[in-house]
Order: sequence, then C-alpha cells, then structure tokens
Amino acid sequence: MNGEDLFTLKTIVSTNPSHPQEVIGRVARADTDAAERSIVVAAQALADWRATAPEERAAFLFRAAEKMREQRLTLAAWEVLEAGKPWREADADVCEAIDYLNYYGQEMLRLAAPRQLGDYPGEVNTYCYQPRGIAVVIAPWNFPLAILTGMTAAALVAGNTVIMKPAEQTSVIAAQLMEIFRGVGLPPGVLAYLPGIGEEVGEYLVGHPRTNVIAFTGSLAVGLHINESAAKTGASQHGIKKIIAELGGKNAIIVDDDADLDEAVLGTVQSAFGYAGQKCSACSRVIVLEHVYEQFLSRLIEATRSLSVGPAEQPHTRVPPLIDEEAHQRVRAAIDTAKREGRVVLEMEAPIEGHFVGPVIVTDVSPQSVTAQEEIFGPVLAVLKVRDFDEALSVALGTRYALTGGLFSRSPAHIERARQEFRVGNLYLNRKITGALVGRQPFGGLGLSGMGSKAGGADYLLQFLEARVVTENTLRRGFAPKQEGNHG
Ligand code: NAD
Repeated sequence: MNGEDLFTLKTIVSTNPSHPQEVIGRVARADTDAAERSIVVAAQALADWRATAPEERAAFLFRAAEKMREQRLTLAAWEVLEAGKPWREADADVCEAIDYLNYYGQEMLRLAAPRQLGDYPGEVNTYCYQPRGIAVVIAPWNFPLAILTGMTAAALVAGNTVIMKPAEQTSVIAAQLMEIFRGVGLPPGVLAYLPGIGEEVGEYLVGHPRTNVIAFTGSLAVGLHINESAAKTGASQHGIKKIIAELGGKNAIIVDDDADLDEAVLGTVQSAFGYAGQKCSACSRVIVLEHVYEQFLSRLIEATRSLSVGPAEQPHTRVPPLIDEEAHQRVRAAIDTAKREGRVVLEMEAPIEGHFVGPVIVTDVSPQSVTAQEEIFGPVLAVLKVRDFDEALSVALGTRYALTGGLFSRSPAHIERARQEFRVGNLYLNRKITGALVGRQPFGGLGLSGMGSKAGGADYLLQFLEARVVTENTLRRGFAPKQEGNHG
C-alpha cells in the first residue's frame, strides 16, 4: 500500500489443495484499519492518476503484460500449486491475464480521444470520459490471475485508483500480480493489495462512503449481498456506487437427436469435469433428446471413466482436487442430495489425501430438483431426458441463472432456434462451453448470473468511466486578448 509493505499479526496461510499439508505461502491478513488506510491512500493518489494521460496509463498495462509473458511458466506453476489447476489450464489462465492487460490497454486508447458531436455553426459539443474514482476489486480463486488482472487492469487504465482484494485461497498468486505492477513502476498509492477475509475487509470496503465502483466476481449469494449493501447511500456520500457483478451459473448443454455423439460426449466431458467443474462456465446439466439418450449416456459414462483424477502437478491429471475442505464438504453434501433426488450412475474414486471428489453423473432427477437448479461448483453432472427440442429449450432455460449454454446438433433449423431462443450470456454451438477468449468471446451472464457488460468485450471499460459533455457557444466577438503589459 502506497509503495510500502505492511505486516500484520494475523496471517492467511495458503495451502496446496492437492497436498493440504504443504504451505504455499503466508500472507498478511488486513483488518478494517488497514482497509481504511487503503481508502485514504487511494483518495490521495486519485488526483494525479486521473490526470495522467490515458496513453501513459495504458503503457503500464502493456509493460505488465510483457513482464507476465516473461514469467509465464513461473506464474502457471504458482497456479498449479496454490489453486490446484492442471498445467494446461494454469497456463491458459496466465495467457488470459496477459490478454486482458493488452486488450484493456488498447480499449483505453480507443476511448481516450474526446469526440465532437455533430457539426453546428457557433457551437462545439465535446463528449469525453472521466474515471469514477476509487475502485474496489473483489475476486474469486478459480481463475486466480486472469479475473483479478482483468478487473484491476480495467479499473486502473480508466484512471481509477484501485484496492485489490483477492480471494483468501489464492492470495499468493495475487501477490505475484502486485509485484508485477510494482515492477513496471506504477505510481505508489494507485494500486493497493489488500489480502484479507471477504466478510471483514471486503464488507468494509463495499460499505465505505468513499468507494465509487465495486467490481466483483464470485458467488450469487455474496454478489447479491454486495449489491444490497452498496445501494445504501450514506449522508456523507458524494456519489451512487456503481456495481459490476459477475456471478454463478447452472449451465446446460442440449444434445439433439441428430448430434454427432463423438463431439457431444467429448464437449460435455470437457465442459463438466475440466478443473473439477470449478468454473462458472462449467456444464452441470446435459439435456438429451430421448432418441439418443441411452446411447449418449453409456458413452458419456465410459468417456468420463477415462479421466485421470489426481494431484494438479501430474501432467496427465484432468480432474484435480477441489479448492479447500469447505468446498469438499459442500460438494459431498450435494452428492448426497443427488442420491436422494435421482440415481447416481457413476461415482469415481478419488485420492484420500487432498480435497478430491471424483466425477459423479446423476440421472432421473427432475429439472426442478435442487441438483438440477443450484450451482454445485464441483464435478457433478446431471443428465436430463427430454422428449423433443421444445422441451429441451424450456428445461435449459428453466433456472434463475443464464451464464453459458451449449447445443450439439446437425439441424440448421435447431441451431437457428437456439441462436434466437437459448438466451444465455454465452452460447456455444457444437463445441465445449468453457474457455472463452478475451476479445473473441467476451464473457458474462444474464439473469442472476450477473449484472454488467461482458468482460473482455468492447463495453467493459465504460463501466469504470463516466461520460461528460461540454457545450461551448463559439459565437463570440473575439477572445479577450491577454492583458500583457497592463500590470505596469
Ligand atoms: P465467493 O463469493 O465466496 O468469494 C468471492 C470473493 O468475495 C472473495 O474474494 C471473497 O473473499 C469475497 N467476499 C466474501 N464475502 C464477502 C462480503 N461479505 N463482502 C465482500 N466480499 C466478500 O466466490 P468464490 O468461491 O471465490 O468463487 C466461486 C464463485 O464465483 C462461483 O459461484 C462461480 O460461479 C463464480 N464465478 C463467476 C464468474 C463469472 O464471470 N460469472 C467467474 C468466476 C467465478
């Protein structure tokens, strides 16, 4: 904070989900006094940072991207160890973080130039953007570098000063990001790294009257709570807080009766069990037309059986552990519920050491069951049988979430209907539903899956900016000459 390292008596101990006795790092645990100080620092640094040319601000992002590229494998290694990400996915997360830095840097250059509106004699109208003020970034652990980098980079390049509150579970990776920003010479005070407990410092920052924008990615429950508490406007407050919230999903893939089942099975397995289902975009419901149901199900079970469940650092691992013991218990409880609500047709073995849960496939659950409605955030997939494509669409859309969705079909008419009617934030046709790329698949949900413009898309940066219009009457009789020499 403000270019200084602070030490706290309490610490957060970060451990390896694959080998929980292995300590990855000990991180300071900020309290509300530290959070208050971070606000004071951010407020002091704001005037200079907002006056810094947008091109200069973007240049910090481009340099940070360069540094990240130099450290690509080291950063991926931290992710393997601290977040339990298999190598390929860890590397993809680092690459996404690099993409965000470059993309938002470029976007700021695009938005920076003031625009003249219309062409009216005697009047000049100028449209330009200014930063909102102090931004609080609250991130999840599941894309520990990419999401934190994306929200932080966007807030910074738009000219806001930023307080970065990472997820407790991945505070060490977040510290690497802070080091990268320090390494490119970001002015002290512009960015603070504030590791701490969400309910403590996160809560404090959200409710603080000086906070102007909150960029949150995480669970629905916390997102709704933040939205509510940030909506309260204190007497000393000068603005209404802007909330950006990217939340959970209960994503479905529809398998049509003419689908290429080789592709559908592969796409479903990758979408449901990659990173043990711990992606907001993961498939947790597959909706299969009855004509191909039995065939699809038996192939799905066999394909899933071939996945290797194990420690993240093993190159052949496809299903790594869950992030922590709390997640482990939550997912085990969801599996118990699934057993009550339906029929578990596959429950794979998993190592005892570490927070592992093997892939689980459940059938015969009602679309309205808890198993088919609530986000589980683990390797649990519900398979739902439907009569026809109409019913498939209605089941797919029958949840409160609307983040990602997918369709495997060879029918142009059904593909077209899905384009029109399968209203989710990100719809994927004949491919897996995870792995969105910055700029190519801007990402974000509808319904209770979020409120905000898509991350990695052309509207995203606007959320961290506010527009001003200046209108000048130029029909004057000349300008007042500078009064040189008149003073004596
Ligand atoms: P979480 O909601 O438990 O925590 C997210 C962040 O919020 C953490 O930094 C946490 O410390 C903080 N927090 C917790 N309580 C808080 C409070 N009262 N006030 C302020 N901050 C608080 O989520 P998680 O377990 O880290 O992440 C998993 C969830 O995130 C899933 O629901 C997943 O679907 C969602 N997610 C969504 C997207 C998306 O783009 N839509 C991307 C990734 C993850």
